[in-house]
Amino acid sequence: MLLLGGTAEARALADRLVAAGVDVTTSLAGRVANPRLPAGAVRVGGFGGIDGLRAALADYYAVVDATHPFATTMSAHAAAACQAAGRPLLRLERPGWGERARPSWQWVDSHEQAAARAARLGRRPVLTIGRQQLASYLVALAQAAVLARVVDPPSITVPPTWTVVTDRGPYALPGELALLREHRADVVVTKDSGGEYTWPKMLAADELGLPVVIVRRPDRPAGVRCVYDVEQALAWVLTGD
Ligand code: NAP
Repeated sequence: MLLLGGTAEARALADRLVAAGVDVTTSLAGRVANPRLPAGAVRVGGFGGIDGLRAALADYYAVVDATHPFATTMSAHAAAACQAAGRPLLRLERPGWGERARPSWQWVDSHEQAAARAARLGRRPVLTIGRQQLASYLVALAQAAVLARVVDPPSITVPPTWTVVTDRGPYALPGELALLREHRADVVVTKDSGGEYTWPKMLAADELGLPVVIVRRPDRPAGVRCVYDVEQALAWVLTGD
């Protein structure tokens, strides 16, 4: 089985599959310098687009796409390649934070919109949107005292008014409160990543009365069955249900 990973859910599913005796290979993009490794076999690096993935599928009988909700290219490639190769595909996607939304959240559809909104709302934004998306914020927040929290240092040069901190979840509420207080943050920017690892920053922002700009999830490929927790994904692999 091929498990497209890079998430906590993918690691949890790999653990369960290995324990159940399934021959699973987790695929990682190779973006993070020292990734947390799952149980079972691991391969690292892109497949070379849809055609490359389709060719790789000769070695696997089924695919679970447990990539991050914002990893849209990989999910689209998985849908196209599995259809072309005749391999069953399941999407495992953690639920978004919509059901826990607070009145202080401001939903936007893109990082460009998030940047513009953050610039209107404050002068000391905290960006927790990932290293790859920082470029979308450079112009709108060029003069702002930005604190950008990322797992690995960004490859772009950031303005002198910005501070970059590297850290990796899971995070806890006391640390998140301290981070926002020490920076004297006046707005927080996030993606609707969902899950528990990064939820404490939302609680911290709420407790401090800060507005949160939240980027909506992109659309997913149509026609792919989706489950929302590891147990359901495990059942699909083991029983086809
Ligand atoms: P993406 O934009 O959807 O994918 C870009 C390309 O990266 C894909 O076309 C593929 O290259 C390669 N790729 C992505 N995920 C891969 C995987 N699991 N195994 C092998 N190749 C992969 O992806 P992304 O948003 O950069 O995310 C990269 C990885 O980080 C994903 O595994 C995702 O789960 C994880 N992640 C992403 C985010 C986020 O906010 N986007 C957050 C946390 C973790 P080829 O076309 O060459 O196959």
